[in-house]
Amino acid sequence: MHQDIEEILISEEELQTKITALGEQITHDYAGKNLLLLGTLKGAVPFIADLARAINLPLELDYMAVASYGNSTQSSGIVRIVKDLEGPIDQKHVLVIEDIIDSGLTLHYLIDLLRRRNPLSLKICSLLNKERTRLKDVPIDYHGFTIPDKFVVGYGLDYAQLYRNLPYIGILKPSVYSETAQPEKQHKSMAEEA
Ligand code: 5GP
Ligand code: MG
Ligand code: MG
Repeated sequence: MHQDIEEILISEEELQTKITALGEQITHDYAGKNLLLLGTLKGAVPFIADLARAINLPLELDYMAVASYGNSTQSSGIVRIVKDLEGPIDQKHVLVIEDIIDSGLTLHYLIDLLRRRNPLSLKICSLLNKERTRLKDVPIDYHGFTIPDKFVVGYGLDYAQLYRNLPYIGILKPSVYSETAQPEKQHKSMAEEA
């Protein structure tokens, strides 16, 4: 285990077992449909890579990057598109692949924007679903795990852009936050990529 991790919340094996099951479900639900998996950069990259390989259907992959103004551990809901999709989605069934839904602010904005492009259907698949009161209600069609309201890293999720490469989901030691000198205050006006 990494020295900065307090506890492994979801092991590599648990992740892979769940992703296999999600892949089977999606394969069943989207059979015969024009499926586009829309990954959100950067956090959802490991998840979409594993999930796409667990889906036994022809599908397309594309990515969007949105930056939310806020600090390192909380989003603000003020969102900016950093990278958009390559093409139109009006002939496609779009499944948005997210790493985690916390306040719901980022995804609410994204869904609103995608709806206006008239996809054939629009659904959400999030690996993690945080157990807390959402500031914006978003319908989650598929999700892997419900987790407690704690800041987690690994398997795509970062703290100050680090830890994305850990193969499991873990809780960061509180000492890591304090050592990096109050990132909340320092990055208040910076855009943090989801
Ligand atoms: P929301 O807008 O739903 O509050 O948050 C969305 C984004 O905030 C996620 O895509 C993710 O980048 C970040 N986020 C929310 N909770 C966590 C967490 O526990 N750990 C990490 N590393 N990022 C989080
Ligand atoms: Mg982040
Ligand atoms: Mg995300």
